[in-house]
Amino acid sequence: MVVGIHRKTYAKIDLNAIKHNIKVEKAQMTNEQNLFAVVKANAYGHGIVEVAKAAHEVGVDGYCVAIIDEALALRKAGLNELILVLGVNSFEYASLMAKNNISTAVGDIDFLKKAQVLLCEQKQRLSVHLALDTGMGRIGFRTQEALCEAVDFMKQHTSEFNFEGIFTHFSTADSGKKEAVNYYEQQINGFNELLSSIEELPKYVHVANSAASIWHKECGGNTIRFGITMYGLNPSGGELDIPTGFRPALSLLSEVVAIKKIKKGNSVGYGKTYTAKEDEWIATVPIGYADGWLRSMQGFKILIADNFCEIVGRVCMDQIMVRVPSKVLIGTTVTLIGRQEQKEIKAQDVADQAGTIHYEVICLISERVPRIY
Ligand SMILES: *Cc1c(COP(=O)(O)O)cnc(C)c1O
Repeated sequence: MVVGIHRKTYAKIDLNAIKHNIKVEKAQMTNEQNLFAVVKANAYGHGIVEVAKAAHEVGVDGYCVAIIDEALALRKAGLNELILVLGVNSFEYASLMAKNNISTAVGDIDFLKKAQVLLCEQKQRLSVHLALDTGMGRIGFRTQEALCEAVDFMKQHTSEFNFEGIFTHFSTADSGKKEAVNYYEQQINGFNELLSSIEELPKYVHVANSAASIWHKECGGNTIRFGITMYGLNPSGGELDIPTGFRPALSLLSEVVAIKKIKKGNSVGYGKTYTAKEDEWIATVPIGYADGWLRSMQGFKILIADNFCEIVGRVCMDQIMVRVPSKVLIGTTVTLIGRQEQKEIKAQDVADQAGTIHYEVICLISERVPRIY
């Protein structure tokens, strides 16, 4: 991957905001609760190693990632806390995970049976968090019978398995609508019912994502998987309020690389979708859909010289054109996400324009965009 270090388009990451957000979350947790920092997908686009190290500095009990390679990147960076891969993995990698002290989610007995053979051969022990599917319909055990079979199997093979955790994931913890709350409650009840079939609970019982930790404090478990709100964003988008104090960590910045006056009737961009209604100043900014700045951002207003200025014409792969009220200098700062003086563009504003959620907006900022800390 080629990173654009000689182009002044970058994501500015405020690691102090990340640390601050963890502290805010921890302040409202009990002493018995643990916090896992969710750093999957390059820490939601913020940079996995840098974010994990910042989290380490303020103290977290572990990290959650989505895939094994993300876990390996953390181990390579020298982080020694627990690392849980939230996705299910092929049994072929059981030995690799055990060797690197990586814990894995397990959602079916088949994995355990096949992994046991390999682990026994290698004289290795793998830490397992059993995933329970209580309504997400994604991964995990759905019945007491299937769950008990897995727990019993691990009990018979304690040399190969460390039963370290058990968890579920909510699909509607981020909404206050009646149906969503009912479904959340259904999931909690399902989880407790499944749990009641287990004699001895593992060390980590975890159900809460950011949303549940904020709006369903009673949800139970002893560990929070803290994701989007660690990055300062509201899990519900804008539907529910989050407590004040969380600060967004990411800004997306660029600068003007060209400025020209076009005449009334001149067009801008591919497909000639924009035609000037009068003589207008058009600035060019070096960011495009290859950077994760989607084509649906045409028409959105970004900040240049403290003005909200409209993106006109189609978003190109590497550049956008913006109508500015008057001539600006080459090199003028452009804020696509973040603050400029008193004005702010939130990741949520970008998501609203693109018809998506801010999770997607920040994850999609491509690797070509350097992260500056
Ligand atoms: C991504 C993820 C989280 C974190 O969710 P946020 O909404 O970002 O807090 C927690 N648990 C699981 C299983 C996940 O996949």
